[in-house]
Amino acid sequence: MSTLITDIGSLVTNDPAHGSGPLGLLTDAAVIVDGGVIAWVGRAVDAPAADDRHDAAGRALLPGFVDSHSHLVFAGDRTAEFNARMSGQAYTAGGIRTTVAATRAATDEQLDANLARFVGEALRQGTTTIECKSGYGLTVEDEARALRIAAAHTPETTYLGAHVVAPEYADDPAGYVALVTGEMLDACAPHARWVDVFCENGAFDGDQARAILTAGVKRGLTPRVHANQLSYGPGVQLAVELGAASADHCTHLTDEDVAALAGSETVATLLPGAEFSTRAPYPDARRLIDVGATVALSTDCNPGSSFTSSMAFCVAVAVREMGMTPDEAVHAATAGGARALRRTDVGWIAPGARADLLLLDAPSHVHLAYRPGVPLTAAVWRAGVREV
Ligand SMILES: [Zn+2]
Repeated sequence: MSTLITDIGSLVTNDPAHGSGPLGLLTDAAVIVDGGVIAWVGRAVDAPAADDRHDAAGRALLPGFVDSHSHLVFAGDRTAEFNARMSGQAYTAGGIRTTVAATRAATDEQLDANLARFVGEALRQGTTTIECKSGYGLTVEDEARALRIAAAHTPETTYLGAHVVAPEYADDPAGYVALVTGEMLDACAPHARWVDVFCENGAFDGDQARAILTAGVKRGLTPRVHANQLSYGPGVQLAVELGAASADHCTHLTDEDVAALAGSETVATLLPGAEFSTRAPYPDARRLIDVGATVALSTDCNPGSSFTSSMAFCVAVAVREMGMTPDEAVHAATAGGARALRRTDVGWIAPGARADLLLLDAPSHVHLAYRPGVPLTAAVWRAGVREV
């Protein structure tokens, strides 16, 4: 059964072959969805017939958001920590351990229900692809269970046993790295696509991060790195050197870091929710874009440092605070996220792509930044199925 979505006032295809600019913008457009994929894209007046018809009433249609960075297998709540931070306390990596204790104590059913809740929350805001990391278990069993639970909701699962050193290994970080690269990796690799490490003061240094990522690669996982979030460090250079799909955060970059990203296949994934929620300086997207680096935007949704599932919020903040144009921010939240996950089937609207679509209750994608905080979702399709 095919569906014609017509009278689209403004269509973001992310396919320069189909329209103007990197967004491949088309006006007065139509799309045909058939069998879960896009079958046709063009001007509404040229659209062929279909079995069913949806009138977009002049509103904007764009690819579903691709959120390439989240931490959603967790239990517990860190409202008090957020409140304290907004009252003047500094953010450190150590708060992760609070969530680790709550997550270990939770049942599989509780973790699954919590994850389903946030994936649904994201979907209602237009996110049709979401990556999800482990990292709040930090034992062999708890990390493997987190990834098993995540894999039931998304194929984009990331092994992050190296989120912080487990509390049991506080006096033996080398022992913890041995666990993460050994028995824990063996248990987790079957359930994960990616391997990640928090390369940061208070978490893992460059040598430890290299050992962890290299071990993951040997088990068939592809690296992505929490890099240069809280301070300058080796994370970005390591990500580029190892061919990581993404270096995430990129808040503190030297000129050498920027140049390395520009000359690489590693996407710079910016997570403005983290800076917002820790009252920290934002990364400079302009500096990366101007030298040709590929930029993605993502929520980093997690209970400690960025408890938002809203890609629209990230777009608005990126435009207001990080030097991005609305077009660049929307591109980064869709096509950029797809690049960061090395996906070619999502993040754009073109024949053969998965029919992941977000219809805005607005005439243009620019409204995502122009109308911050306003719920603009009119409809969402995932793989051709109307979800919202
Ligand atoms: Zn993260």
